[in-house]
Amino acid sequence: MTEPVTGPGHRQDALEGPRLTQLEANLAAVRRRIDAAVAAAGRQGPPPRLIVVTKFHPAKDIRRLASLGVADVGENRDQEAAEKAAQLEDLGLSWHFIGQLQSKKAKSVVKYAQSVHSVDRAALAVALAKAMEAETERTGRPPLDCFIQVSLDEDAGAHRGGAAPGEVPALAEELAAAPGLRLAGVMAVAPLGADPAAAFEKLAAISGRLTEQFPHATGISAGMSQDLEEAVRFGATHLRIGSDILGPRPALR
Ligand SMILES: *Cc1c(COP(=O)(O)O)cnc(C)c1O
Repeated sequence: MTEPVTGPGHRQDALEGPRLTQLEANLAAVRRRIDAAVAAAGRQGPPPRLIVVTKFHPAKDIRRLASLGVADVGENRDQEAAEKAAQLEDLGLSWHFIGQLQSKKAKSVVKYAQSVHSVDRAALAVALAKAMEAETERTGRPPLDCFIQVSLDEDAGAHRGGAAPGEVPALAEELAAAPGLRLAGVMAVAPLGADPAAAFEKLAAISGRLTEQFPHATGISAGMSQDLEEAVRFGATHLRIGSDILGPRPALR
């Protein structure tokens, strides 16, 4: 599982040092937690996919992670993600866009992202579809995986983004109808201060209703550093883990 990527020798050397050792240990600890959670849940089938959230951390850390076998990375700001993806093109990573996205950024995001986990409104689905039409014609790239971000907050004031559960069917229709987009499933962030297990249970129910309508849209993107165990228990297929692997994020630039 952690087979190192053997890049050009000089580059590999430059990555070595205490930071690489630390990332390796953190990554191993998170992978152990995921394995234990999968076992505790009695889950069969493919293990959840680990997306390492690298926002605010330098491109060099992503090189280190790639050398440790990481293949999927998550970013939440287009400009930062686009710059890193361009610098790290040689690594062949899958880039996942996980943050709030303005429709006008769709054109940029489809140039590097394999998936967008934060589709929360029809206007964004339309913008991504249009951007993908042009990008597919230009590069022949595969469809963009789209997760519908759902808000699990009872209290709209504590909102952490996402569509209301009742908006999911219409958004799903919109995504499924666009040739360049692939409806992948649902995504959520557990509400602050609430029980993450209850939130992810609710998300699993929303996912169950979605797959009745679209049987292939089985993805559940849920679980961060603090709540990955609960997410695995309720069927997460994609985990988005940042700080427990990379450490605290540097202050906002
Ligand atoms: C930052 C972020 C994560 C990672 O959170 P950690 O607590 O650092 O693991 C996951 N999902 C989203 C949407 C994020 O913005």
